[in-house]
Amino acid sequence: MDAERLQFHEMGLDDRLLKAVADLGWSQPTLIQEKAIPLALEGKDLLARARTGSGKTAAYAVPVIQRILASKQSVREQDVRALILVPTKELGQQVQTMIRQLTAYCSRDVRVADITGKADLSAQRPILMEKPDVVVGTPSRVLAHLNAQNLALHSSLETLVVDEADLLFSFGFEADLKNLLCHLPKIYQSFLMSATLTEDVQALKELLLHNPVILKLQGSQLPDSSQLQQYSIKCEEEDKFLLVYTLLKLRLVQGKTLVFVGAVERCYRLKLFLEQFGIPACVLNSELPIQSRCHIITQFNQGFYDYIIATDEQSLADPTAAPQATAGKGKKKKKGTERGGRTKDKEYGVSRGVDFQNVANVINFDFPTAVESYIHRVGRTARADNPGTALSFISHTELGLLSEVEEALTGDNADSVLKPYEFKMEEIEGFRYRCRDAMRSVTKQAVREARLKEIKQELLNSEKLKTYFEDNPRDLQLLRHDKDLHPAVVKPHLRNVPDYLVPETLRGALNPLSNRRRKKRKEKPKPDGVVKSKFKNIQGKNPLKSFRYSGVRNRKGKAGHS
Ligand code: AMP
Repeated sequence: MDAERLQFHEMGLDDRLLKAVADLGWSQPTLIQEKAIPLALEGKDLLARARTGSGKTAAYAVPVIQRILASKQSVREQDVRALILVPTKELGQQVQTMIRQLTAYCSRDVRVADITGKADLSAQRPILMEKPDVVVGTPSRVLAHLNAQNLALHSSLETLVVDEADLLFSFGFEADLKNLLCHLPKIYQSFLMSATLTEDVQALKELLLHNPVILKLQGSQLPDSSQLQQYSIKCEEEDKFLLVYTLLKLRLVQGKTLVFVGAVERCYRLKLFLEQFGIPACVLNSELPIQSRCHIITQFNQGFYDYIIATDEQSLADPTAAPQATAGKGKKKKKGTERGGRTKDKEYGVSRGVDFQNVANVINFDFPTAVESYIHRVGRTARADNPGTALSFISHTELGLLSEVEEALTGDNADSVLKPYEFKMEEIEGFRYRCRDAMRSVTKQAVREARLKEIKQELLNSEKLKTYFEDNPRDLQLLRHDKDLHPAVVKPHLRNVPDYLVPETLRGALNPLSNRRRKKRKEKPKPDGVVKSKFKNIQGKNPLKSFRYSGVRNRKGKAGHS
């Protein structure tokens, strides 16, 4: 525990809140909580640059609850006192859960309603008629209720929170948000939380906040190297496949892993490729129904799957704005279309709004096209106090992007943040033939078919999920999303790794022949809060690598590799 850090019990919080915090096992506030909670309790408006995983939700939820508890001592009337605006349904659910946890000992005094769901307005009306103390919703949903007079805020509202404000804009909620403000009283306290301070967010700050305190806490926006280890390795297209195959097959990467690729089509290419080797992975993309996506993440959190392949919402929400160097330089982003012109899903938030738990590793199979995406992706690991590792594969075309990220993250430090991942590619040369064999089977046609097949499958799943599983929640576990899609020819021999292919240095240390999939099913889900393992990267332990990082400043894409 950091003795110099202000503790929760020193903040003048209600005992019921302190008890709930203790039950959550939070020994001390996170940095943002330490700064934001006292300022908020003083009545200040806040603009906080805070990434998911920094404890930002509680940073505003604690003062919101404290304020409600305080007002209830004098005013008995039940009314909506706080409005929390979020960009996605997933985040809405998370916020509601967090508030429920924090109000475990005062749930009668502080009631919360999440209205981000897809239910009809009329179905949600009775909930709002009871005037819950805290309402959580997307701007569009809240505005619709205000217009339908299911909700009135002009006299009662005390606090407004806009969470993930930058995403609200990129998801096209801008107009609704502005219209909604007309329904609010003249005076209320506001908190604006955003991972990045874009021009849009700055404009919103002018509109919403009065003499705000601006908190830009983490210089790098990511935990430091004692908690999060970041590596990069130069490899071209074929080597990317070769490397990911060997890392996963030889279990050099252990623990729950998110693999990010640049486009939906590549999710399926990689899934089919790994399928050839009997490595199961789930694909998470905006084309899948919301129920499926939530179910996949829930099961991932429960330890059902080790690997999820995803694109980040940047490439989905806004392909044209991708290179972050250009974002924020006055270019208005094109909104509302996905790569290929499909309408994007407003409530999609794979690498942002959705809460993946205990992610041990993030692999950037394709390097993100924006600094912001890098931070969001990598921020999925090393959350709260857990350690994490990020490994980025860099092709020559991605070197420029790597330099941008390096520059943004390095700040004033002399050392580069992404260390070279000193993996001896020549040691896995023996696997190249198999890799090529598998790559050949994954044709364009196969990828297209797999993509369609999975969507059809998941639509069916989604219906099942909605109806059947509502009545039989236990059976929910039975439905899996990492089944083989098989539109590529599967060569059974590729599933096993013959002994002679395993680098001599690794023989004995690993058992790559073991059929993990069968074993895995019997495994109990890992408990939350425990990161079992990460890259085996401790010098001397993994004979494939040496990790002799020279400490030389390593910028502008000059990441060395052996
Ligand atoms: P957030 O940034 O709000 O998405 O929170 C990220 C995770 O950190 C959540 O799982 C929280 O439960 C957890 N968390 C929040 N505050 C603390 C704290 N003070 N100590 C430990 N974990 C925390």
